[in-house]
Amino acid sequence: MINPKPFDSDELYDNCSSDPKQVTCICGKVAFSIFNGRVRKARECACNDCYQHMKWCRAVGGPDVPPIPHGGYWDNDIQLDRGEENLMVVMLRESGRSRRLVSKCCYSTLIIDHPGYKQLSFLLFENACKIPWDRPVRVFSREFLGILWKWMKV
Ligand SMILES: [Zn+2]
Ligand SMILES: [Zn+2]
Repeated sequence: MINPKPFDSDELYDNCSSDPKQVTCICGKVAFSIFNGRVRKARECACNDCYQHMKWCRAVGGPDVPPIPHGGYWDNDIQLDRGEENLMVVMLRESGRSRRLVSKCCYSTLIIDHPGYKQLSFLLFENACKIPWDRPVRVFSREFLGILWKWMKV
């Protein structure tokens, strides 16, 4: 019997560089830098709150919502680079405990904070903003080196 491995996307980020990353809203007006560019923990989130929030963003012009959004927890060591005037905090309901920082320009969700994170980290969803992953670049350069290597041996 095949034992299905539980989803753990941490290993997807094993090669993730810890260089600072600049995250932007979908349209690019808001940008902030995360000093530790290596995600702490990556998770799929199928909870109702996240889904409802993203559906709301979508309805008012925000990004598409995948069936199971991929999220990641990042170190709370960031700097806002531009677009402060385009930011607003959205709470799903008055009793909701998660605060979501949304851009007014394109309804991207830029930072999700919950008291449980103790201000040590925050959550980002890959579909809800633009995170510059370094992985494709690495794959490309590895392939490129492979080709070069073969060529040099000829
Ligand atoms: Zn925007
Ligand atoms: Zn959630």
